[in-house]
Order: sequence, then structure tokens, then C-alpha cells
Amino acid sequence: MKLLFASANVNKANEIQSMLPDGFDMLTLSDISLSEDIPETSPTIEGNAIQKANYITEHFDIDCFADDTGLEVTALNMEPGVLSARYAGPERNDQKNINRVLEGLENASDRSAQFKTIIALNLSGKQHLFEGIVTGNIRREMTGTNGFGYDPIFEPENCGKTFAEMSMDEKNRYSHRARALAKMMDFLKTIS
Ligand code: IMP
Repeated sequence: MKLLFASANVNKANEIQSMLPDGFDMLTLSDISLSEDIPETSPTIEGNAIQKANYITEHFDIDCFADDTGLEVTALNMEPGVLSARYAGPERNDQKNINRVLEGLENASDRSAQFKTIIALNLSGKQHLFEGIVTGNIRREMTGTNGFGYDPIFEPENCGKTFAEMSMDEKNRYSHRARALAKMMDFLKTIS
């Protein structure tokens, strides 16, 4: 089955490609020569996933899925949330985003947080949503060099290390995106 993943994020495409079972052929935006940014203007994570998937369906008439993820920090009123990519400004700088989270938590005793991914799948004219959540804590300082985004400061519950200290395979055993994707895969198996 051919499914287009509506994201320009190479890190995420690699993660997802490594999780797909046999029989699924994942296309990316380069396969349809899309160079413009897909609009992401919704105030919610779910809304952005839907907006991205619908954009591809409307413009290219192809089965696809899109994801949107946010880091939700309890002591920051669940921010950065839908603003995760641009938390410290429009330049989408991972280091600056991390600094803003760490500064916001300087005096906080509660460092709990979660990553939330919503996947919107547009298949044969119908839309299906899948949610993946991983709970954990924000470290006081950055640890590890793997992954991307907030990985160096996020330690999943009962792991003892951050996502950035894990290999891609190990991260995929816990991650928000892997959990949402697993639900999508279960669904796809029931209809194939
Ligand atoms: P997106 O909606 O998946 O593009 O994610 C928005 C932002 O959330 C990204 O720019 C990253 O800063 C952050 N993010 C998403 N997924 C991850 C992850 O797996 N680890 C760390 N940060 C992530």
C-alpha cells in the first residue's frame, strides 16, 4: 500500500520509515515535488495534523497521513504544546526552544511533561485520527546528542535517560509518534 507522509521533517520520516511493516511503501513530499510549506495555522495539535493531511488530499488527491506533535509541560500550563516548533521565535531553533523551557522551569518543583502526537490519516475519502502520548519529566540540563527537538531534556517515565541518549530503535519503543503510528498500523491491518 502506498501512503504519502505529509512532512518535510527528515528526522521524523526516517523514524517512521523504520517502523513501517512490510507491505507499506511510504512516499514523502519529495516524491510529489512539493517544495512549498504546508500550512500549519490551527491553534491545536489535532487541528494542525488534520490541516496538513487535508492540504495534500485536496492538492494531490492521494492517500496520506500527517502528524503533529507538541511537548506539554505541566508547570508551563501545558506549553509549548502546539507552539513547540516556534516556542522561542519563528526561526524554529531547537536550542533556543529548549532554553526557554528550562528557564520557565527554573523555580518549578513539578517537572512533569508529556509529548503528544496526533496522526490524521486520509484514506479512500475518509479521515481517521490516532493519538500517541508518552509521559515523563524535563531534565535540569541537556543530556545526549541523538534525536532532535526537545529530546535532550525529555526523560520518559521509568527510563533513566533522555530520548537523546537513546538509539532511534530504542526511542521508537517508547515514543509518542511510535504509539500513534502503532495505532494507525493496527487500523491499516484490519482493513487490508
Ligand atoms: P511537529 O509537529 O512534529 O513538527 O513537531 C513540532 C515540534 O515539536 C518540533 O519542531 C520539535 O521541536 C518538537 N518535537 C516533535 N517531535 C519531537 C520528538 O520526537 N522529540 C523532540 N522534540 C519533538
